[in-house]
Amino acid sequence: MPQKTKHTPMMEQYFGIKKDYEDAFLFYRLGDFYEMFYEDAIKVSQLLELTLTSRNRNADDPIPMCGIPHHAAQGYIDTLIEKGYKVAICEQVEDPKTTVGMVKREVVQLITPGTVMESKGLDAKENNYLTAIVAAERQQEFGFAYVDLSTGELKVTTLFDEESVLNEASSLQTREVVLGSELSESLKLKLSQRLEVVFSEQYTTTENAEFNFIASELSADLEQEVVNKLLAYLSLTQKRSLGHLQKAAVYQPTHFLKMDHYSKFNLELSQSIRTGKKQGTLLWLLDETKTAMGGRLLKQWLDRPLIQETKINRRQEMVQSLLDAFFERADLQTAMTKVYDLERLAGRVAFGSVNGRDMIQLRTSLEQIPQIRQLIEGINQGQWNELLLDLDPVKDVVDLIETAIIEEAPLTIMDGGVIKDGYNEQLDTYREAMSHGKQWIAEMEAKERQDTGIKNLKIGFNRVFGYYIEVTKGQLANLPEGRYDRKQTLTNAERFITPELKETETLILEAEEKSQDLEYQLFLEVREQIKASIGRLQKLAKSVAAIDVLQSFATVSEKYQYTRPVMKANSHNLQLVEGRHPVVEKVMGHQEYVPNSVKMNPDTSIFLITGPNMSGKSTYMRQLALTVVMAQMGCFVPAESAEMPIFDQIFTRIGASDDLISGQSTFMVEMMEANEALRHATPNSLILFDEIGRGTATYDGMALAEAIIEYIHKKVKAKTLFSTHYHELTELEQSLQGLVNVHVGAVEKDGDVVFLHKMMDGPADKSYGIHVAKLAGLPIDLLERASTILTSLEAGATKPKTPAPSVEEESGQLSLFSEVSTEELSVIDTVKRMNLLEMTPMDALNTLYELQKRI
Ligand code: ADP
Repeated sequence: MPQKTKHTPMMEQYFGIKKDYEDAFLFYRLGDFYEMFYEDAIKVSQLLELTLTSRNRNADDPIPMCGIPHHAAQGYIDTLIEKGYKVAICEQVEDPKTTVGMVKREVVQLITPGTVMESKGLDAKENNYLTAIVAAERQQEFGFAYVDLSTGELKVTTLFDEESVLNEASSLQTREVVLGSELSESLKLKLSQRLEVVFSEQYTTTENAEFNFIASELSADLEQEVVNKLLAYLSLTQKRSLGHLQKAAVYQPTHFLKMDHYSKFNLELSQSIRTGKKQGTLLWLLDETKTAMGGRLLKQWLDRPLIQETKINRRQEMVQSLLDAFFERADLQTAMTKVYDLERLAGRVAFGSVNGRDMIQLRTSLEQIPQIRQLIEGINQGQWNELLLDLDPVKDVVDLIETAIIEEAPLTIMDGGVIKDGYNEQLDTYREAMSHGKQWIAEMEAKERQDTGIKNLKIGFNRVFGYYIEVTKGQLANLPEGRYDRKQTLTNAERFITPELKETETLILEAEEKSQDLEYQLFLEVREQIKASIGRLQKLAKSVAAIDVLQSFATVSEKYQYTRPVMKANSHNLQLVEGRHPVVEKVMGHQEYVPNSVKMNPDTSIFLITGPNMSGKSTYMRQLALTVVMAQMGCFVPAESAEMPIFDQIFTRIGASDDLISGQSTFMVEMMEANEALRHATPNSLILFDEIGRGTATYDGMALAEAIIEYIHKKVKAKTLFSTHYHELTELEQSLQGLVNVHVGAVEKDGDVVFLHKMMDGPADKSYGIHVAKLAGLPIDLLERASTILTSLEAGATKPKTPAPSVEEESGQLSLFSEVSTEELSVIDTVKRMNLLEMTPMDALNTLYELQKRI
């Protein structure tokens, strides 16, 4: 910070405040503007495309400055937060009119990506989490807590390695992490590589008694510590009441189906690999929720499917009862659509940002509860008992809002018009005075016209002069002397005041001012009364959210004809009959999709899948994983029938996802993912390996693949789908008892391959690589050459017996190409040099793509 010259008192004040908010943009309130100075100004002006000006333009070292009007600030703040920055709002906390000298200023709120409450960037169906992480001395134990400030949800757990910390943080898609200073640099680095996240670490801890209850029941020290850290950061940034924060709930990641970061990503549970969006994911398919809370809960359930048989069964039973009650379900959906975001409304009540319209939304939402209750009671046979417990219509709040708040309440409470007539006697008196006042004025106008005979005389009002009698210049002569006191002269008229008019004016204005003040007071009282019910509203919101997710399951299950899976803990029998990939089926249509079974008895642990590329191997594997996730969420599944064990973890290695951000090659990522599975999988886990080993040369790739299969078979014993293009591996069926060969059927028709997408027993007869290359449109002569090489290879040779013809030998043909460019010649040369034996089909495609680009 440049400090060489002596600064004005204002800039001194600015520096004093800015030093506590080094990592935030300081929005310094100056009159109607928020101003930024120095580095802040330079950066913000670039980010928001604002004009950069300067203060003390003529001084030796002018101060860079830029400003935004305070009434338009929200949009700019949203943009900065969206981009991952923090904004400190610094207001004048004294009235400039009555203050001598410098007005006192303070930061009233620090808005950060993890703590935004009001923003258009806040997706209704998504949580916005702020996370805190602390580490025990030797970095082998971590306290991990997160909060959604808009809903008040606060959870905490203890984790035992860095990978789990990374997994939790990335599955929450947290936007901001408050870090303990003891956290290792390597963990911070990994966090920032995997997530788009802001770190907040330098803030000092402040105590806030309001929060004492939140961590009061935590037994583990590390959990207490991390929750306190989170809360300290919240008090520091929000500087206001946060009465809606819920008591910290301890959770154990091991109580849910575990899927690591890679698997969630690969399976496209909530984010499409290609677009990063929800469209095309399992979440997109399952989401028939009607409320924002339901949408958020669905995502949470998807992130943490269950592993307890009884809990899964309970959800299934609820879904079943909804499926059995078509009409009730339709009514339930209609009622649900009228339920607004209760959780965030409750948050705004506590936060003090609630307005009249929010209260009407709250009332409308609560008014649906009795009907929802009745519908659920109607179908309840015990399975709904728990949810019914919290389905509280919060009648007192409904009545309160009903009697106090006007139906079409305006967005702001400052101008009144929010509190209903009849709610408060005093307010009614003021209002009567106001409306009588208007009548008096009207009567006075009529009387003045009559008395003076001036037909166009009128009584008007403006903010500067108050009430006045206006007479046009032409009529002035008709105005009697004496009573009329001149107030203002216009081009065509004069304005006057009379003692009676003055008296009436005082009465009216007083009533107006007092009524506004009183309305504001009453509104705050109503808000405080509702605040007392926040706990009940939050419980209700949770219950409604769960009902909404379950009705969504029922809706989806009916729409796509899903079946109720039979789930058994500690079973190793998997009988998925005629299953379908739910998302692919939805996209291509039920008719087009070829169903496939996965039948593994307790003795089988590995399916070795062979078949041409593009025939449907990875679709088959994903189909099983998604079915498991759906089943363990409590939803029905896309199959004719299903009997499934309850899995504890899912590991995947599917598709070629280069981890570009952290700069790791495909093969490295492949091996890391394989490592995760091999080290952590149990006999109750599910492993999906798609063409492991293809990222490296043929022999070591195949050797690794074989060793991995043997290792799983002997040590891990997890249910495994392993697809491969190494035909040699199919011989393992002879030596490994729990391994079964399956393949995707394909038939040859007139030299072309037709994929049946149907799984069949036994190994594939051939790999059809050349056929696929043909489908991809490779040049015919290249394909012919490949067939020749293949034939000689299949005849048992280790290298092509028919040597590739040299350029000279082809000189006759070359003349054909005499018109070709050198670039094209070089492409031909490259094709000739290609060592097809060392290439995977994927490499071949990539090379082909490169070649095509060159010509
Ligand atoms: P592989 O992993 O064998 O290369 P994929 O699983 O990626 O093949 O499938 C390739 C394409 O085939 C998919 O994008 C899909 O359009 C289609 N497909 C796969 N399985 C089926 C199926 N069971 N029914 C219909 N089409 C399918």
